Amino acid sequence: MKVPFLNLDRSHSAIKTELEEAMKKVLNSGWFIGGEEVEKFENEFARYIGAKHCVGCGNGTDALELILKAFDNGPGDEVIVPSFTWVSDAEAVVNAGATPVFAEIDSDSYTISIDSVRSKITPKTKAIIAVHLYGSTADLIGLKQLCKEHNLKLIEDCAQAHGALHNGRKVGSIGDAAAFSFYPTKNLGALGDGGAITTNNKEFANKIKLIANHGQLQRDQHELIGRNSRLDPIQAAILSIKLNYLDQWNRERERLAKIYLDELKDLSIKLPRTQPGRVFHLFVIALQQRDELKSYLESKGVHTAIHYPKAIHQIPVYVQFSASLPNSEKAPAEVLSLPIYPGLKEEEVRFVAGEIRRFLEKKVVS
Ligand SMILES: *Cc1c(COP(=O)(O)O)cnc(C)c1O
Repeated sequence: MKVPFLNLDRSHSAIKTELEEAMKKVLNSGWFIGGEEVEKFENEFARYIGAKHCVGCGNGTDALELILKAFDNGPGDEVIVPSFTWVSDAEAVVNAGATPVFAEIDSDSYTISIDSVRSKITPKTKAIIAVHLYGSTADLIGLKQLCKEHNLKLIEDCAQAHGALHNGRKVGSIGDAAAFSFYPTKNLGALGDGGAITTNNKEFANKIKLIANHGQLQRDQHELIGRNSRLDPIQAAILSIKLNYLDQWNRERERLAKIYLDELKDLSIKLPRTQPGRVFHLFVIALQQRDELKSYLESKGVHTAIHYPKAIHQIPVYVQFSASLPNSEKAPAEVLSLPIYPGLKEEEVRFVAGEIRRFLEKKVVS
């Protein structure tokens, strides 16, 4: 059986007409930067997250960089980030002019370890980026307390956790500011690049708007040296439609995850954490024979992926920001992401799980 790692058509096919209508509406409006569709989506997304403000931008990496710039994190400042995450978290810090300081992850949640963060705080530390990796939520309550004690900003990277709850509140409404990506493969994805920042601080939201639009709120009145990073109306219109389906799609991912969890429960592999409120952006198992399992599954038609093959401090261009982080260095050799997405069929999940079982049982015998 052929099981693709991801097939966006399976979620798009049922709403294709709606998406086409949305694109047509923008085409006919003749308005292609900012305006009504962008404002509408920003308001809807802020309401959905339970944050007071939402500002759209070009992509999730820009969202992180804009947040750091708006907090005046720059040369001489340190920002603590996990090393086992997508590269954007360090990239944005460097591009903002600050220095990334890598912290360890907790090995069952794959999110930043509070103890490690505590040990990395120096007088130069200005902010912490907490990544809700795979949809597993970071310990925001603990991090918030730590930030308060040391007067640091807590930045959430929600690129993999649209709709996730932490202690009953949506992620993206808890830290000082949060970055979202609408890259097509995310739980809420555009038909191209897109991103957003959510925050409860109005002044901060206004500053983000200024920076992301050439330092101007009104044309030709440049209040600071900004840049250009905007959410296109056509993507905003698409996102407004898709936001209506996000909860349903997240529930579907959860239902599929439960089947995996049940089918794989007695095998000697590490299964994802199942804390309430998390979402399943990715379904990630971990085992020592990862590479052999990956090839085996490939031979059976099952496509898997590795998120991520290196901790950031192990990527050659980042080794200048050196660190020694055993959990973050071990995970890249063991993690394997299985197919999970709206429209993936129950029989496909059972097939994947069955092949994993067959592989492991064969291993035990031989
Ligand atoms: C996707 C992603 C980003 C970056 O988003 P882009 O829109 O691709 O720039 C940042 N952080 C994490 C954890 C991501 O998964």
